[in-house]
Amino acid sequence: MDGSIILYPSPGRGHLASMVELAKHILGHHPSFSVTVLLLSTPPPDTHFVAAVSATHPSITFHHVPAVSLPNSDDLSSSPANFILSTFEIVRLHNPTLQETLVSLSKSSAIKAFIIDFFCNAAFGVSASLNIPTYYYFTSGASGLASFLYVPALHKKYPDSFKDLNESIIMPGFPPVSPRDMPMAISNRSLKVYSCFFDTAVQMAKSAGLIINTFDSFEPSALKALRDGLCVPDGATPPTYCVGPLVAAGGGTKGGEERHECLGWLDLQPSRSVLFLSFGSMGVFSARQLKEIAIGLERSEVRFLWVVRVPPPHDEARHGSAEVEPGVEPFLPEGFVDRTRGRGKIVESWAPQVEVLGHGSVGGFVTHCGWNSVLEAVCGGLPMLAWPLYAEQRLNRAYLVEEMKLALSVTESEEDGLVSADELEERVNELMRSEKGRAIKDRVLPMRDAATAALSEGGSSLSTLAELIGSIKAGSSEVDVPDLV
Ligand code: UDP
Repeated sequence: MDGSIILYPSPGRGHLASMVELAKHILGHHPSFSVTVLLLSTPPPDTHFVAAVSATHPSITFHHVPAVSLPNSDDLSSSPANFILSTFEIVRLHNPTLQETLVSLSKSSAIKAFIIDFFCNAAFGVSASLNIPTYYYFTSGASGLASFLYVPALHKKYPDSFKDLNESIIMPGFPPVSPRDMPMAISNRSLKVYSCFFDTAVQMAKSAGLIINTFDSFEPSALKALRDGLCVPDGATPPTYCVGPLVAAGGGTKGGEERHECLGWLDLQPSRSVLFLSFGSMGVFSARQLKEIAIGLERSEVRFLWVVRVPPPHDEARHGSAEVEPGVEPFLPEGFVDRTRGRGKIVESWAPQVEVLGHGSVGGFVTHCGWNSVLEAVCGGLPMLAWPLYAEQRLNRAYLVEEMKLALSVTESEEDGLVSADELEERVNELMRSEKGRAIKDRVLPMRDAATAALSEGGSSLSTLAELIGSIKAGSSEVDVPDLV
């Protein structure tokens, strides 16, 4: 054996799933390592998911980092910014038990690398003190990483918080973006969450390497900016390893379940005729927005498969509704489901997205631009209609639309952020029926082939994985055990 590689995902299904794909990928090509995925005990991980992976990939070991007591979680998760802050905080609070875990694991097998999610930035101090080479796994793309690493430089370049800027933001490898496209969590410098991102960007630049879920030919301008050192102007950029696209097949089902009924429905639809609408693991809309979407879809007359969730509890349309989840139908225009029956299908909450995007009946994808969704769309060869909601998704949209030209975009109302039924109808027609949509599709298909090639024998992503493994093998394997342990 060559020793062990320890992966440390942040809480949250998306980050865990992506890290598990990395674990599978490493073991699939370099089985001489043992791979352990650490799980934080608080909040509890998705046990169904972990059990399913353990059943199909017994070579991946899961290890729980013992729980710590956390401060009042209501304070931490009362707003999106606080929710993100709580993620950084939870990881930081686990540092003492993480240290014990790493020391204990190092006794059975030399730890050759510690690969952390960027939300696990606080853990870098622990692994560095133990002399364990630490890599970051960036679950978004090279364009996201380029902009993220450039945050300290932007801090110097612009005197104000992004939320107060009135000019386009210029970043290496990126088309100019509006300040409104910067992630909400870093838009206000006076918030603590801003310092978490800032510190993470600074620290990432000091790591042994940056592993990115992308492939070399997918985001060339961002990757060039990274590799030319333009994103860390005051220091050195660590080696970048593009090992993707790592896409979790079966991500929408829990192991062993029957084929989802929406796939059977898709079997009956004409080739490339269906528009799929899905907004990630957390996307929810107000009742008002759901109605606009429904009207736009109905008027467009396209076939559609739409993943719908009930509006959030604070939505005024939910006032007075029983405590039991009412289902989504009461939030849609009256008669909508009947009128669109046959050509439209609604799936509540969750669909097997990877399988849907790989189905021959699907011809377009309305996406919130989460990075996994983008990669899954490209692997399915599908043109996208970009409708970002949170995190770095507005930046992803800018890059997808302006730079890569793989997506069209919806335009939100300046006033209330709503996308109107008219706007959606028009964009859907454009994507599914116009020359513009066809041109997007013509660009996505070669990207799909490039993605397949990158992961084939001799392809860029497999060669890069071999380079990464070479770097890991060459690194230190002596864990410095602290006196106290
Ligand atoms: N997903 C799914 N079914 C759904 C919604 C999402 O399988 O109904 C999966 C999707 O395939 C992707 C992940 O959840 O792998 C969402 O990740 P992404 O990075 O796109 O967005 P996030 O949830 O992190 O915002």
